Amino acid sequence: MIRHWFIGLLLLFATLAGTHAAAENKLEQFSFSEPHMGTTFQLILYADSEVTAKKAAKAAFARVAELNRIMSDYLRTSELMKLCDKAGSDPIKVSKDLFDVLQQAKKLARQTDGAFDVSVGPIVRLWRRARRSRKLPTAEALKDALARVGWDKIKLDKDKRKVHLLVMGMLLDLGGIAKGYAADAALAELRRFGIKRALVSAGGDITVGDAPPDEKGWRVGVAPLKNPDGKPTDYLLLTNASVATSGDASRFVLINGTRYSHIVSPQTGLGLVGRRSVTVIAKNGAQADSLATAVCVMGPKKGLALISKTKDVAALYVFESDGKLVKAKSKNFDEYLLRR
Ligand code: AMP
Ligand code: MG
Repeated sequence: MIRHWFIGLLLLFATLAGTHAAAENKLEQFSFSEPHMGTTFQLILYADSEVTAKKAAKAAFARVAELNRIMSDYLRTSELMKLCDKAGSDPIKVSKDLFDVLQQAKKLARQTDGAFDVSVGPIVRLWRRARRSRKLPTAEALKDALARVGWDKIKLDKDKRKVHLLVMGMLLDLGGIAKGYAADAALAELRRFGIKRALVSAGGDITVGDAPPDEKGWRVGVAPLKNPDGKPTDYLLLTNASVATSGDASRFVLINGTRYSHIVSPQTGLGLVGRRSVTVIAKNGAQADSLATAVCVMGPKKGLALISKTKDVAALYVFESDGKLVKAKSKNFDEYLLRR
């Protein structure tokens, strides 16, 4: 039995590390990290002075903190939770960020036939409880939760920027998209300070801007499957792109010998069973993050078919079949690999 495997992303900026100054434009590398959104956000950036670097990093983290106050489902006072409090009553005007992320989530829900569905909050709550109690939710609890799930119960009015949650007790969960969205926003904030050569890691979901000085791109290592702490076997070379990994590597619950993922099937209300890990490369973090979660739910065949027909995205899908690891990828995935 394969006990330990997962595919993760490692930042390989270490190979560029140090405060080496690129002679031609006098840019220095700086890095910062802070806890946000229940994970660690990390910034690697090139700036012409420490003052600029620090100011920009501060602004970028402040923006992520702002997005957490909007999108968190752990924070009772978040804009998202206040919106959910009004589920079943009137449409509510929301911030541009919240509307934007919901619009992107709904678009993906439509494209995936509801495999990606941010209305999964009620079943995600049940799974969090199951993780603590090590007991499956009862059929009745599942039925009750599922009655409050469904992306078609989220109505968006673009002109008025209003959101209408049709059923009382609905709970939205942006856990599959918010980190990627926040990474994009942090990078945009750095750009406002003139910093274009930067990388943002939102707990391993990575968004990068222009390449480091004298480099073709940011090198991101894909951790080996059976030995995640070992030297990466594959490296991605990315500029102005994002990469995200989803799977059951770190968050899951073991009940009666079955391993259930923290990613749930909106159809059955159960955590996904069957080891898998999906890495998606896309033009922005919100898309990479949400697609990685979606493709996990869809499975390799349907998931990779969706990737193939989506512009400018690529994916690697690793899953277990008959006790063996199978590695499947979209045709264009290798284009992003660093050739050495
Ligand atoms: P990620 O780690 O990006 O794959 O996101 C996983 C998180 O997304 C979970 O912890 C839930 O908060 C949320 N989630 C779980 N299942 C789904 C689903 N089917 N569609 C959308 N979001 C989900
Ligand atoms: Mg995701």
